[in-house]
Amino acid sequence: MADLQSKALFERARALIPGGVNSPVRAFRAVGGEPIFIARAKGARLFDVSGGEYVDFVGSWGPAILGHAHPDVVRAVQEAAERGLSYGAPTAGEVTFAEAVRSLYPSIHKMRCVSSGTEATMSAIRAARGFTKRDYIVKFEGCYHGHADHLLVKAGSGLATFGVPDSAGVPEGTARTTLTLPYNDIPALEALFAARGAEIAAAIVEPVVGNMGCVPPAPGFLAAIIDLCKKHGAISIFDEVMTGSRLARGGAQELYGLVPDMTALGKIIGGGMPLAAYGGREEIMNCVAPLGPVYQAGTLSGNPVAVSAGLATIAHLTPDLYARLESLGARLESGLREGAKAAGVPATVQRVGSMITLFFRDGAVRSWDDAATSDTKRFGTWHMGMIARGIYWPPSQFEAAFLSGAHTEADIDRAVKASNESLAA
Ligand SMILES: *Cc1c(COP(=O)(O)O)cnc(C)c1O
Repeated sequence: MADLQSKALFERARALIPGGVNSPVRAFRAVGGEPIFIARAKGARLFDVSGGEYVDFVGSWGPAILGHAHPDVVRAVQEAAERGLSYGAPTAGEVTFAEAVRSLYPSIHKMRCVSSGTEATMSAIRAARGFTKRDYIVKFEGCYHGHADHLLVKAGSGLATFGVPDSAGVPEGTARTTLTLPYNDIPALEALFAARGAEIAAAIVEPVVGNMGCVPPAPGFLAAIIDLCKKHGAISIFDEVMTGSRLARGGAQELYGLVPDMTALGKIIGGGMPLAAYGGREEIMNCVAPLGPVYQAGTLSGNPVAVSAGLATIAHLTPDLYARLESLGARLESGLREGAKAAGVPATVQRVGSMITLFFRDGAVRSWDDAATSDTKRFGTWHMGMIARGIYWPPSQFEAAFLSGAHTEADIDRAVKASNESLAA
């Protein structure tokens, strides 16, 4: 149950903002609840407007890998703000930032800063289309790549949660250039490329899906995407907006030892500020204006305050951090799994590093068709129990939960206890 002041704010918000929220999943509709308005956050804790305290497993949907309001990040932002908020001219910080990103992601030879993950994937696809002079793109059911028109086709999470297969307002002709395939289905991928490979500009994929809940890639699936793209002159794009610097400093591509043609980044690399980036092979990025004919721009792109938050965050992405996230993740995974088993509730816990989902269904989730059979009603009841016990878990069956370096073993144990009580209720 949302607190009284959140309820009052939600009332005011609904009169002015569609659904009372500035991004749909925040509305808590998928769990039959009402949103909690947040007043402040520190470390792994969120505080609502009535002073209620929660252990946060959403982490701003991914960015907060160091926990909230890390002192070094806050200081970097304050110092940058003193120097002016935006100039619309190049800065030294952007160059340092690009160098830092390239050192984490060797596949990114050249990059461009943008302000959201949506812009990053949209622009990467435009560059891939401009470079290949082809129109069609391949995406996988259940993967979400932001809300650009051609990517709102079988997009998982928010859309699946609200039972909207596609978005209204997307022209049919636009959606037609997007070819969708089931995630983790290598034979289907091979068949599509065999039939239409010469028309395909790019294949875009979440290398570990977070947007239908946490779904890892089957062995060979990501390599098949890269290889088939190469063979047919198409561009492989890893959308690492969520996985980037979450699964390893250099994202899923470092974890699995793979080299995509292009990568989209966001969330963690912006340290909680509106900053994202796309980049990849030099000859593709050389097509982007002003060097080439692919237009892409942004008034606030590479914003100096955002870049300083990103740089301060990147400075803390140490091997120690990832070792800690792995051990906290393993503790949460086994705690949730054992609890569900003891309660006799059909459940599957899937995790890669610090991304984790408790699916209310039996058996592994490998694709959207699997995820969609989860008991979302049961998830809603469980989620309400978690909130009531001070655990802020993503309010949808189809969203991954995240850990941060600020979580402690005691936080994990508290979440497991809340889950067990919630399952029993
Ligand atoms: C969050 C996300 C996006 C969109 O990023 P925004 O900053 O919300 O526009 C794109 N791709 C993936 C994989 C994401 O998780």
